[in-house]
Amino acid sequence: MTTSDPMLTSLDDLVFDNKFVDTLPGDPELENYCRQVEHACYSFVEPTSTDKPTLVACSNDVAALLQLAPSICQSDYFTKVFSGNALLPGMKPFAMCYGGHQFGNWAGQLGDGRAINLGEVVTSDNQRWYLQLKGAGLTPYSRHADGLAVLRSSLREFLCSEAMHYLGVPTTRALSLTLTGDTVVRDMFYDGHPEAELGAVVCRVAPSFTRFGNFQLPVSRDDMALLKKLVDYTIVTDFPHLGPPSAETTLAWFSEVCDRTLEMIVHWMRVGFVHGVMNTDNMSILGLTIDYGPYGWLESYDPTWTPNTTDESHRRYRYEHQPQVAHWNLLQLANTILPIVENTEALEAILNNFAKGFQQQHQTMQLSKLGLVTNQEGDSALVSDLLTILTTVETDMTLFYRYLALVDLTDLQNKTYQHRLADAYYQVEQLSDEYDTTLLAWLERYARRCEVEGIEHMQRTERMNQVNPLYVLRNYLSQLAIDKANDGDYSGVEELLSVLKQPYTEQDGKEHLTQKRPEWARNRAGCSMLSCSS
Ligand code: AMP
Ligand code: MG
Repeated sequence: MTTSDPMLTSLDDLVFDNKFVDTLPGDPELENYCRQVEHACYSFVEPTSTDKPTLVACSNDVAALLQLAPSICQSDYFTKVFSGNALLPGMKPFAMCYGGHQFGNWAGQLGDGRAINLGEVVTSDNQRWYLQLKGAGLTPYSRHADGLAVLRSSLREFLCSEAMHYLGVPTTRALSLTLTGDTVVRDMFYDGHPEAELGAVVCRVAPSFTRFGNFQLPVSRDDMALLKKLVDYTIVTDFPHLGPPSAETTLAWFSEVCDRTLEMIVHWMRVGFVHGVMNTDNMSILGLTIDYGPYGWLESYDPTWTPNTTDESHRRYRYEHQPQVAHWNLLQLANTILPIVENTEALEAILNNFAKGFQQQHQTMQLSKLGLVTNQEGDSALVSDLLTILTTVETDMTLFYRYLALVDLTDLQNKTYQHRLADAYYQVEQLSDEYDTTLLAWLERYARRCEVEGIEHMQRTERMNQVNPLYVLRNYLSQLAIDKANDGDYSGVEELLSVLKQPYTEQDGKEHLTQKRPEWARNRAGCSMLSCSS
């Protein structure tokens, strides 16, 4: 949007162009009950009205994307619409039909069980944004569940989508977080102790919510006609630069999906994000981070960590495994579109490029975290040796890189680096002479490498601070904001939303949001591990 574009002053002025439902085949059944939906990409369904909706928070920046003046977000009408209690003129609410592989197994039809798309907004500068409520009630895809969401998980999704955006990670966005006024019963630990929690709705915003699973489901049912319609629709609508749909364009499209997915994963690795549920129904066709559930942030650098309690024993979705899982998910997508492309070798070649591309981009990213932009012999070992060092004692990944940026590499023998890095360690008693010898040897190599690069201290600090965030949505910080919000105090959400907008810049008075996980949070639910209950 240019600054000359006027902001809308009424929600009713939003312009909807519901291309997805107007173009693709829909479910003829309009009644809302759980069922298998065949030969259709969606079902019409309206949000369920709730008792007494209230606004918890909204993102003015996302409102601005929709060209909404900030004052609109404070109106009762806004709260009503984005909690599912009123529809705007032009909205045609629907739930999408898709399937997916969950934890590596084909799960059949899943679909938007608690997401309802309100419609597609088209702005004056021709940007297309789906508005989607999560937690607004039952849909034909709710299966055995209730279509609802609770405050803790909704708050985590709201904050994380925005935080990821400001970190520079491709993601769906979040416009608003509302309380429904109803309670929702959840057995958070699946241990037979259900409790009533506050019901909440997040309004998510993205150019498309289509997932790999949208394409997989028709193929699993041998419905190639539907597959072709959806692929062609996606190419024309979301990838128009590829040209008119054909076998060749479909191949180019797959290649771009691979590139975008790769870029997203490299960013996750850079900032220490672990998605937690990388099922194929949670993989966006646009390479956006989507469906924030039991995600988490690496605090101590442990590549085998996953936040998801459901995945504790196999750890399929652990931090270090995310690139391989993305590759596996893309392989499923390749198999899905094979009947259109009819060229196994070409698809395989693209998948092989993904693996190679990841090695390269991951290496470039890791070097950038060290302030290095050129490629030199021995860099690969420099990076991997540091990552090994980070695992030998419990080290906070985020703080380590910020402190490393401050280490004086010309003064290593005086051991001033020890003081600089001290606060990045969780357990000082783990620091041994042996550790120090290894670290010092690595720092000496790093110092020599920086000489080859020809960068001075200040320049290195500056470069590193642009890629290594200081503020990330640490799991315990979310939990503190949740605890307050459950008591009706939204100041924690507001503070995090505001500070996380500038994650690379030190902000006065916000030191408490940079602190590594306190001991009390080590094993507390919500602070270290999360269940899927949401
Ligand atoms: P997820 O792993 O959270 O992406 O969810 C997997 C599937 O379960 C999706 O089809 C969701 O729509 C559905 N689902 C999750 N929670 C609920 C719920 N409370 N009510 C209805 N469907 C749900
Ligand atoms: Mg999902």
